Amino acid sequence: MINLGGRFISIQSAPLEKAQGSLYRVTRKGDPSALNEKYSAFLVEDRNPPPNHAAYFVFEDQKELLNTIRSDQVGIVLPNEFRYLDSGDLIRVEGQSTRIRVLFRKASPHNHFLVTERCDNYCLMCSQPPRNVDDDWVIDEILQMIPLIGRDTHELGFTGGEPTLLGDKLLAVLESCKSNLPNTGIHVLSNGRHFSDLGFTRKWANINHPDLMVGIPVYSDVSTIHDYVVQADGAFDETIKGILNLKRFNQKVEVRVVLHQQTYRRLPQLAEFLSRNLLFVDHVALMGLEITGFTRANLDSLWIDPTEYQKELYQAVQILDASGIRTSIYNLPLCLLDRRLWNWAVQSISDWKNEYMPECEGCSVKNRCAGFFASAKFKKSDRIAPIKEDFHSLMQRSQS
Ligand code: SF4
Repeated sequence: MINLGGRFISIQSAPLEKAQGSLYRVTRKGDPSALNEKYSAFLVEDRNPPPNHAAYFVFEDQKELLNTIRSDQVGIVLPNEFRYLDSGDLIRVEGQSTRIRVLFRKASPHNHFLVTERCDNYCLMCSQPPRNVDDDWVIDEILQMIPLIGRDTHELGFTGGEPTLLGDKLLAVLESCKSNLPNTGIHVLSNGRHFSDLGFTRKWANINHPDLMVGIPVYSDVSTIHDYVVQADGAFDETIKGILNLKRFNQKVEVRVVLHQQTYRRLPQLAEFLSRNLLFVDHVALMGLEITGFTRANLDSLWIDPTEYQKELYQAVQILDASGIRTSIYNLPLCLLDRRLWNWAVQSISDWKNEYMPECEGCSVKNRCAGFFASAKFKKSDRIAPIKEDFHSLMQRSQS
């Protein structure tokens, strides 16, 4: 697990106000892109830091290097746990505080930005419980960040809350991505309801982004079950209408299904529903439960050991696969999955919150296994068991 937030240890006091509230792009010796003096923060690793960077970061075990920085420059001593920082990463020093947040890591394939905490669903297993707060400043921060992100970034995600509640402001972010990051795939997580508004969906499509996908949850083929899971009457109808509107404009759509006690029984029927009515979606992700947010409060009505829904999961995957819908299984450890499903399993958990258990030591498939969310410490299967056999011979046997 990687710590993305914390407190700096000390700062050169004279320019304190200059640093607080500032956004920095990390750079280090030899980085050819260390040109933007307005935002660049240089990682000081020897006694000759170049002049004219906006800030200088020193790690706590080399804090004497702070003396190599002019007293009118911003110098910040960071705890050693931030040694993973590298050129191209983005950091915000919080205003009026000693906190720093790592907002973007160039080396990570899992960079997501939370654009709002507001939401019009109230899902039983929401990992980011909604708050009705005025957080419009977040969009301004993201708009400031996008031009600083490397053009070779493979993918960026936007989550909430419900991002589409921001309306035109979200569209402005997508426009900025298209202009500044033309080679970066964009993935937006949404409950899909706002796309039932044809005018909004038309504006979304008119951005004409070359690689934009929206991930939308559909929890059941039965509207009342979906509405119960998301705790919003009428949500199913709006969500399905939203998906149809998006496809009407030829937009990429991923359907997401979180697997738990309220959703697993009708998985095969949901797969039938998708293959008959939404055959044109671009991807279906069947996802293990993250034990965080509302899930912890509603654990009794949500938790089921993944080994107990393998029959339904296998049937669902068979139906989706037979109808040609690209399908993946996210967030489920291989030792809990029916081996016939291993081909669909993906290492999907964001690297900063991905962990393995002591049982995983010596497991022959660890480098292919999704492992666990850090929050699995609150609840996990008691059937985790290391695999001893070689991966390829296991796959051959499960397919024969
Ligand atoms: S023992 Fe650990 S690494 Fe091996 S399959 Fe299970 S969860 Fe994955």
